[in-house]
Amino acid sequence: MDRRNFLKTGMLGALIAASPISLSAFDSPTRQSGKSGRLNLSFRPYELKLRHAFNLARNQRTTTPGVQVQIEYDGLIGYGEASMPPYLGENVASVCEFLGKLDLSQFADPFRIEDIHEYMDSVAPNDRAAKASVDIALHDLTGKIMGQPWYKIWGLNPEKTPNTSYTISYDSNPDEMRKKIEETAGFKVIKVKMGVGHDKETVESLRRFSDVPICVDANQGWTNKQKALEMCHWLSERNCLFVEQPMDKKAIDDTAWLRERSPLPIIADEFLQRLPDVKRAAQCYDGINIKLMKSTGLHEAYQMAVLARALGMKVMLGCMTETSCAVSAASQLSPLADWADLDGNLLIANDIFDGMKIVDGKVTIPDRPGIGVVPL
Ligand code: MG
Repeated sequence: MDRRNFLKTGMLGALIAASPISLSAFDSPTRQSGKSGRLNLSFRPYELKLRHAFNLARNQRTTTPGVQVQIEYDGLIGYGEASMPPYLGENVASVCEFLGKLDLSQFADPFRIEDIHEYMDSVAPNDRAAKASVDIALHDLTGKIMGQPWYKIWGLNPEKTPNTSYTISYDSNPDEMRKKIEETAGFKVIKVKMGVGHDKETVESLRRFSDVPICVDANQGWTNKQKALEMCHWLSERNCLFVEQPMDKKAIDDTAWLRERSPLPIIADEFLQRLPDVKRAAQCYDGINIKLMKSTGLHEAYQMAVLARALGMKVMLGCMTETSCAVSAASQLSPLADWADLDGNLLIANDIFDGMKIVDGKVTIPDRPGIGVVPL
């Protein structure tokens, strides 16, 4: 990645927010004028191309918008990333607008991560993916300064990383479905998207080719609690580990009803975003799916995982469709997770980092400082 292609914040950031986004507009080099001993933030849009079109409960997509971030400090660079699936309400313009408002040069110490989060929350209340991009870059930078990866700084055992699931979506063409399942070879868990009207067909066609455990993500797609319960029983007889976000995030009473009766754990995803949501989730879910783009990055994600475990909840670590940058950052936390869904980098055709690897289905954290990535 050419550092000169990154944009300096400030006026250019504001320009991005005000203009239609075109990647070609960012190809010309932009000189940085960072101050020594201060945090210098730069960023550029980077659209992720999906290897397969993604069929979700409420839409289909072939690309995902992203923004790549760098924070430079005394010759070291921390890498970060914002990935913005459309349903979360952020986009390239909003992320660039938020990043353009930040003045990180007021901070002389990159270890003041808590202060920087307080500052970012004071600039705007939401913009979680944009905040995550800064948080990830700060963790990468501070880990590099300490010369250690973050799992070590947190005192976690890299042998305790979970297997990761690999996500497939339904295809009515049996040959296409077979090809998708062949791509799951080596994975110990397959994640199946549901709630799009082919739920049983998806599992039945998958089971023709594979007997590995599955987990199910309904993406709020089930509307009837009785049918949801019947589906949980049906899935429990087909080697399913858990069900993620079966019903609408606002259907709290119905979800609590389902949780009481389901033979499978019920995991919250769309229901929760940040740390204060964990206690709320404990009322009606068995576990939570933590994602850096929801939690504003690693700083709060770590606290969410610790709190959820203290409340006796299961912890799942997920990701958006993103490069190895954000996925490798999430992998640092993975020894705290019961289950991982860290396949976002495997779903794209244009990764720009080397980082976390899946070895024999298991999350394998890079042996490098920071978040463990190097640009390709
Ligand atoms: Mg989900």
